[in-house]
Amino acid sequence: MTVSQPGQLFVVATPIGNLADFSNRAISTLQDVDVIAAEDTRHSKPLLQHFGIQTPLLSLHEHNEQQRSELLLQRLQSGESVALISDAGTPLISDPGYRLVSLVRSAGIKVLPIPGSCALIAALSASGIASDKFRFEGFLPPKTGARRQQLDSLKHEEHSLIFYESPRRLLDTLQDCVDAFGAERRACLARELTKVHETIETRPLAELRDWVSADQNQQRGECVLLIEGAETAQSADEQEIMRILGFLLEELPVKKAAAIAAAITGGKKNEAYQLALKLQQK
Ligand code: SAM
Repeated sequence: MTVSQPGQLFVVATPIGNLADFSNRAISTLQDVDVIAAEDTRHSKPLLQHFGIQTPLLSLHEHNEQQRSELLLQRLQSGESVALISDAGTPLISDPGYRLVSLVRSAGIKVLPIPGSCALIAALSASGIASDKFRFEGFLPPKTGARRQQLDSLKHEEHSLIFYESPRRLLDTLQDCVDAFGAERRACLARELTKVHETIETRPLAELRDWVSADQNQQRGECVLLIEGAETAQSADEQEIMRILGFLLEELPVKKAAAIAAAITGGKKNEAYQLALKLQQK
């Protein structure tokens, strides 16, 4: 008796605007699999046709994901290979697919990513907002009260913040961000990425709000909003060293001021020196 090998599930990113961003590997994977699970089959058909992909499609969206995942698991177990795509960008990122991937992995079947476009990563990479640590929050709640509450809960977050937002709510959200994070916090609006009207604008929040408000065109299309993280909170010791350094630096060179501040507070000379340099740059 021959036992068929299980298939594999490929999680395939599609372009977020510019078709040239579709990778060769993504295209050949979609051509080779037995079935493509797509968020919206009607939406994906023109893209697939454009690249000569004739693989049968099956819908998998938030309302049928549970039941479709079980069906796809059976097909994988019987040896078929499956690809998952969403309308645009990377599946599972504010898009369906998590339940399928989780079910398939827990059944011991291989899941392989075919990486490509993702709006939040494209936006972050070109925004000028710190990219070393960031927190992706997906879509904010559409209702004003819940949105304000969520933004307020994030005001001390030190990581850069990234949101997907509808253009219809963009201005209201920018105003709520000014209220939560302050007028001076830097932010970036990344709109229509990789498309003809691509705009990436980074300014202090209040300026960004006024700029968007003055131009109706900035309230159209698809957008990502990025907000600089809160300044790192200083420990009480650091605050004390900074206070002392503030006086000493008016009269003394950095090295001398740092040595005296360290001696007074019992802190380390090198740390006081770094803080003194920071103070001098302000
Ligand atoms: N899975 C997608 C990804 O990898 O980015 C995101 C899907 S989510 C349903 C759609 C949202 O992503 C849009 O409302 C917008 O916030 C953002 N987005 C998608 N394409 C974009 C683009 N070309 N420019 C700016 N934002 C985009």
